[in-house]
Amino acid sequence: QHMTTAQIRQAFLDYFAKQQHQVVPSSSLIPGNDATLLFNNAGMVQFKDVFLGAESRPYSRATSSQRCVRAGGKHNDLENVGYTARHHTFFEMLGNFSFGDYFKQDAIKFAWQFLTDVLQLPKEKLLVTIYHTDDEAFDIWHKEVGIAQDNIIRIDTADNFWSMGDTGPCGPCSEIFYDHGEHIWGGRPGTPEEDGDRFIEIWNLVFMQYNRHADGTMEPLPKQSVDTGMGLERISAILQGVHSNYEIDLFQGLIQAAAKVTHAQDLEDKSLRVVADHIRSCAFLVSDGVMPSNEGRGYVLRRIIRRAVRHGNKLGAQGAFFYKLVAALIEQMGQAYPELAKQQAIIEKVLRIEEEQFGKTLDRGLAILEESLAGIKGDVIPGELVFKLYDTYGFPADLTADVARERFMTIDEKGFQECMEVQRKKAQQAGKFGADYNEQLKSEKTTDFKGYDAEHYSGTVIELFYE
Ligand code: ATP
Ligand code: MG
Ligand code: MG
Ligand code: MG
Repeated sequence: QHMTTAQIRQAFLDYFAKQQHQVVPSSSLIPGNDATLLFNNAGMVQFKDVFLGAESRPYSRATSSQRCVRAGGKHNDLENVGYTARHHTFFEMLGNFSFGDYFKQDAIKFAWQFLTDVLQLPKEKLLVTIYHTDDEAFDIWHKEVGIAQDNIIRIDTADNFWSMGDTGPCGPCSEIFYDHGEHIWGGRPGTPEEDGDRFIEIWNLVFMQYNRHADGTMEPLPKQSVDTGMGLERISAILQGVHSNYEIDLFQGLIQAAAKVTHAQDLEDKSLRVVADHIRSCAFLVSDGVMPSNEGRGYVLRRIIRRAVRHGNKLGAQGAFFYKLVAALIEQMGQAYPELAKQQAIIEKVLRIEEEQFGKTLDRGLAILEESLAGIKGDVIPGELVFKLYDTYGFPADLTADVARERFMTIDEKGFQECMEVQRKKAQQAGKFGADYNEQLKSEKTTDFKGYDAEHYSGTVIELFYE
């Protein structure tokens, strides 16, 4: 009998509680302490100020299962959903944290003990990476844990060197990978084929060792800290004897529910995975207070909903279906997240309204796209068409790009942005004459997305898609 996802989450928190860690609840997807961040995308986010020494807590060790969204900003896995076995827009990150308490040695030993002792993973299927200069980590893995030299891979890229920002805490990481077997395409970390899904990264151990100054020099932190993150869905897949995250109990429940409401026949259909993924991010975002809109976080939510609706349509859904999956999500995750059930009615309502609104133009937009594709030579969808679909039918450009990708085509991003620019200028022009009728237009075409990650987004919705 395999452990369920819920049991694995609990086993993790219990193990670290036993090692004197304070169990801290997940924080909201909307970071309360960081205006530069679009969504909470890692377990450490709620502890940022503790690591920086700006906030103190009555404990020096913590553990959590943090809800995360990676669908915009620096971490964006939206385009991976439906294409890899291991990425979601929403996932849970299990973490243990040391605030100037234990360091590398205990972090490594805890992780290894949890994986091989508590969860009983076969040691021979695990391999680890370290930062190429981190001999200290090498010695712990090799001499103390007993991992063969060949299975400790030195990586010299930023993948294994973490920093909070351009200055401040930073340090080497060590990541633990699981080998799902030869029958799956992919290479060991550090090889050109590492992006395959054979060797899947399960746990990242970050050693906050240095403080980096503006001139680039690094000095050892007076109090060295640890931040780790393990994807709950990835470890569940391993323990449940399956390869893809989408095959675990929780996702199978969602996929079956999605098949029911869309009347899809083939449970392996990629679109069912996309829908099952998207209901999680959308429901949790609404639950955490995000509303669909034309800018910032709300526009990310709108884009995910519209993508889900398009995939549902492709599966054969008649009428609104997406909101009906909230109940299935609560069945899977309501116990761990009681706020979901409390807000069921509002989440359903928000999703339904958004879905119905988009449903009105979706079919027509898809028909236009279909007709136009027949006449296109080459494999690039022209920017004007992408713009027309956006402007008239409410197709976010990434949605059109998603359709394109299914046909091994791409969209002309540059051409699309040029059309947007023309549109913006027109709206500004009209604005100068105080034309009120352009209010709606303006708010749809531009956004003040200066709040988060200002260096990535200079203020337009478009840049938000194509970061
Ligand atoms: P990958 O290289 O597979 O994209 P990552 O290096 O971006 O993962 P980290 O930022 O190190 O991931 O996050 C810590 C852990 O969180 C990962 O080891 C993985 O188990 C999990 N994780 C990261 N991104 C996702 C995602 N999009 N969906 C599910 N789990 C994820
Ligand atoms: Mg990643
Ligand atoms: Mg990685
Ligand atoms: Mg990583």
